[in-house]
Amino acid sequence: MKRFLDEAQGLDADDALAHLRQCFHVPDGVVYLDGNSLGLMPKGVPARLAATAEAEWSEGLIRSWTAAGWMKLPSTVGDRIAPLIGAGPGEVVVGDSTSVNLFKCLAAALELRCGRRVILAEADNFPTDNYIAEGLAGMSGDRIVRYAATDEPIADSLDDNVAVLVLSHIHYRTALIQDMGAVTAAAHAAGALVLWDLSHSAGVLPVDLGGADVDFAVGCTYKYLNGGPGAPAYTYVSPRLVGRTRQPLAGWLGHADPFAFAPDYRPGVAIKRFICGTPQVLSLAALDESLKLWADVDLPDLRTKAMRMTELFIAAVEASCGRQGLDLAVPRDAVRRGNHVSFSHPHGYRVMRALIERGIIGDFRAPDIIRFAFAPLYLTYADAVRAAAELARVLDQELWNDPRFAVRAEVT
Ligand SMILES: *Cc1c(COP(=O)(O)O)cnc(C)c1O
Repeated sequence: MKRFLDEAQGLDADDALAHLRQCFHVPDGVVYLDGNSLGLMPKGVPARLAATAEAEWSEGLIRSWTAAGWMKLPSTVGDRIAPLIGAGPGEVVVGDSTSVNLFKCLAAALELRCGRRVILAEADNFPTDNYIAEGLAGMSGDRIVRYAATDEPIADSLDDNVAVLVLSHIHYRTALIQDMGAVTAAAHAAGALVLWDLSHSAGVLPVDLGGADVDFAVGCTYKYLNGGPGAPAYTYVSPRLVGRTRQPLAGWLGHADPFAFAPDYRPGVAIKRFICGTPQVLSLAALDESLKLWADVDLPDLRTKAMRMTELFIAAVEASCGRQGLDLAVPRDAVRRGNHVSFSHPHGYRVMRALIERGIIGDFRAPDIIRFAFAPLYLTYADAVRAAAELARVLDQELWNDPRFAVRAEVT
């Protein structure tokens, strides 16, 4: 480990993003490698929440919808996310969950391609994406979900029955990065639309929705964007399409003039029609505060740091864990890999529980994946090496082999 620690020290001394760590609360003794499930809390959030509750809510009351900009939060927060995903101002709104936004976008896409029957999906995508697609297909006449084979390029499954292709830009288990430009172009060439799930991409690497001519995108904000538990998700629709879209959850706040209380629905301007009901003000305030940290982050720098960290971690694990039943479950080539590193291990759940008890917090994904995410805004290279050293200890000494770790917790 000495060699890796020395290397980590050198990289940390040279890290252009190192100053950002102090903007986050890092619990004592913890190496937090779960930024892909719930990111660390930025230190500015509690004061912002207190201000929202005390000044805006308790004093301002209903006046705050206008005076404190509550009503505009879905758009103001969307505009903070836009530069992270290659969208322009006024092209992103924030509200509801990723699952709900998937439903809205898939339904809008089906309507735009009403002569086609198929939602094309990845068999092993994050389950909610496929559950939502199935639920929607089930209530849409003869629409069906078709699953692309996992060992073939998804574009091979496109044909003229496909209305919309839904897939993750970075896969939640394998960390594989899809070629957004090429897949989008292939879908368009087949006459289909594309919906990208950016949950593991925003805040990880530069995304260029505009440049790739993407139709729809959604993603969550509680992972690498540090929006906090239950933080609302975002929705993007290409400006080329949005004026023609209709989404089925046509709530009053997506109406062009909500306070006219008109009997008929008229969709709001552009992306605003994807808003449904009342904005989640407290969650949006926390997210808005978190996103301020991104204003000066150079995304290519961020990506470089993440690639180096995951590379260092994999090298340190493989050098110290030998053949202990661990199998790398992400691409070895950093260019094709997102910010998390997964290994399969036959006792993966217990291994992760033992690690968590030792302050190395990652997560477990059934059936056998242990997953470590490297959020470059707040982690150090030394953290990566410490995590590898603890993993080696847990495996060498079989610290996972303890009956306490056999019982599954509610959240893994
Ligand atoms: C985390 C995640 C979600 C989250 O969905 P919610 O409805 O916001 O809970 C959706 N899709 C992917 C790929 C994810 O990683």
